[in-house]
Amino acid sequence: MKILVANAGSSSLKYQLIDMDNEQVIAKGLCDKIGLSGSNISHKAGDGRTYAAEIDMPTHAEAFEALMFALTESDAKVISSPKEIGAIGHRVVHGGTFFNKSCLIDDAVAEKINELKELAPLHNYPNYLGIVACTKTFGKDIPQVAVFDTAFHQTMPEKAYIFGIPYEYFEKYAVRRYGAHGTSHKYVAERCAELLGKDKSEVKIVTCHIGNGASITAVDKGECVDTSMGFTPLDGFIMGTRSGGIDPSALTYIAEKENISAAEMSNILNKKSGLLGISGVSSDNRDVSAAAQNGNHRAALANEIQRYQIAKFVGSYIAAMNGTDAIVFTAGIGENDPVLRTEVCKHFEYMGVKIDEEKNHIRGEEVEISTPDSKVKVYIIPTNEELAIAKDTLALVTGK
Ligand code: ADP
Repeated sequence: MKILVANAGSSSLKYQLIDMDNEQVIAKGLCDKIGLSGSNISHKAGDGRTYAAEIDMPTHAEAFEALMFALTESDAKVISSPKEIGAIGHRVVHGGTFFNKSCLIDDAVAEKINELKELAPLHNYPNYLGIVACTKTFGKDIPQVAVFDTAFHQTMPEKAYIFGIPYEYFEKYAVRRYGAHGTSHKYVAERCAELLGKDKSEVKIVTCHIGNGASITAVDKGECVDTSMGFTPLDGFIMGTRSGGIDPSALTYIAEKENISAAEMSNILNKKSGLLGISGVSSDNRDVSAAAQNGNHRAALANEIQRYQIAKFVGSYIAAMNGTDAIVFTAGIGENDPVLRTEVCKHFEYMGVKIDEEKNHIRGEEVEISTPDSKVKVYIIPTNEELAIAKDTLALVTGK
């Protein structure tokens, strides 16, 4: 079966058409600047043919029409009719407490996703628009599935998701830890169990998704028991532009000193902090590391803080699970930065973690980077959120 995976953002739509018989990408692309001037589509077939065009896309509906044209009629077309698409899987960012697993989309599910936009305004509304636009473009005959970024984290116990503030804010506004990147954490944890040769119910794993956005999850017996992102993706440790956790009193103090609003403070914490805020150089890990190597102290400090904070989270999750069988690194930085992995793993020498530096420099592959006698296995597992979404979609539509 061919499955279309759709990831709708506020002004973009990323997609992949995947052949689930061999898990190969048939085509993928991006509709960009939706609702803005200069909206365009860039599309690439699996055999290398490409199609790009500037197309007026005032809403996501036109983006789905452009995508359909690219797939079925363009110079880089890969199918002759939309009927060849067996199902559509949507990445949905927030499932609140209502969705603890992927589900088939009906009107009620779509409406609930729309209602949850209160918790993730920048993401859930575009996700909802994507579902509506898809129904308009592809009709109701092609089943659609929602795969939620938060769903994997819904198994967290109360002690991990309730914040230390008056309980009424949880009751009134559903303020609690939800986590994010769940599709990625679940995917790499399941791959890791396979690589360990064990059933997921038998293992404890710490998964580190370190990209521009970054989070760490404690996975015990295949279930998330704690995760570093919180009510929003701001919590945890420093990221490209996000601050991670910080003493809230520092924020009220700065807000008073600089006379800034809550919205401005949120913007500073989300867009101007982290690697960018500390280094003053860039939010991009490669730029920061290059500046650090050229002797820029603040860039070196940003790298050091990032690695130190990651190590502290990994350590706390090992404590939370009373041990771990494996540590997994994934996403842009986790998969590609050997120095970060070495520096993080050094903190676990005391419990017998040993890294094979030759293997640690292998890129883009699933690889065990710990030595055979390491007491805890360490892996690089490239994440593949689209394939994970397609697998859930296939399972729901075929009932397998
Ligand atoms: P997101 O999906 O959250 O936007 P990614 O997972 O694509 O982010 O990760 C982007 C980050 O990965 C950037 O900070 C980038 O510098 C870093 N990165 C990518 N390739 C490398 C590399 N070869 N070495 C070090 N860092 C890298």
